[in-house]
Amino acid sequence: MAAKKSNIPFISVPTAISHDGIASNRAVLEIYSAPAVMPTGILVDSDIIIKSPYRLTAAGFGDMVSKLTAVEDWELSNDEIGEYISEYAATINRTAADLVIRSAKSIKNLEKKGLENLIEALVFSGIAMAIAGSSRPASGSEHMFSHALKELYPKKTSLHGEECAVGSILCSYLHNMDWPRIVEALKVVGAPTNNEELKIPREIIIKALSEAKNIRKDRYTILDYKDIDEKKAEIAAKETGVIE
Ligand SMILES: [Zn+2]
Repeated sequence: MAAKKSNIPFISVPTAISHDGIASNRAVLEIYSAPAVMPTGILVDSDIIIKSPYRLTAAGFGDMVSKLTAVEDWELSNDEIGEYISEYAATINRTAADLVIRSAKSIKNLEKKGLENLIEALVFSGIAMAIAGSSRPASGSEHMFSHALKELYPKKTSLHGEECAVGSILCSYLHNMDWPRIVEALKVVGAPTNNEELKIPREIIIKALSEAKNIRKDRYTILDYKDIDEKKAEIAAKETGVIE
């Protein structure tokens, strides 16, 4: 964001890979994301990433897995209201998310191969956003869920990627996708899959999912399509084991 304001190039040197902001034209601030510049170059040292707190890496995995529902929402919006879609950008993120899911075990074991797959996936997510000209390929209903949590429960201690991943469990259920595959991958990596692990009360989860569609009214998602209210949100959360 500083580079954008100063009109100078920016080189990204992440020391942790907790989300796809390492290669993004958006800068994530406390409550919203602001326009930024795409980095001219990205330098990631996997030896540094291996030494970073593992929870951050697992959160990055969660953010990447959550692209599956972001892309699904984008396609739904294209079908329902004719929103522009770049199928190329959508394919990049879907493929990248699938690859990291297949690398779950390797990431958990801190193997270079798995970590490099995750790093490259997060970088490609940034490229997909640059192609799309928006955060659409990387951010859908699951990200709105995370933003709603932030508003409803300011004292939360969960990380962005952890929340988006749980949001993705809920929203993939609503999309009739293979949501157990997402739960399983998150468990392999050791990322949260329910409200207790997120340390967020169950009522907040229900409220956040039902109110998420009001976060960005310009962004059509499954939450609009299915007109999610508290009752439907509770069913989704219970069915997926996100709440008891
Ligand atoms: Zn994200």
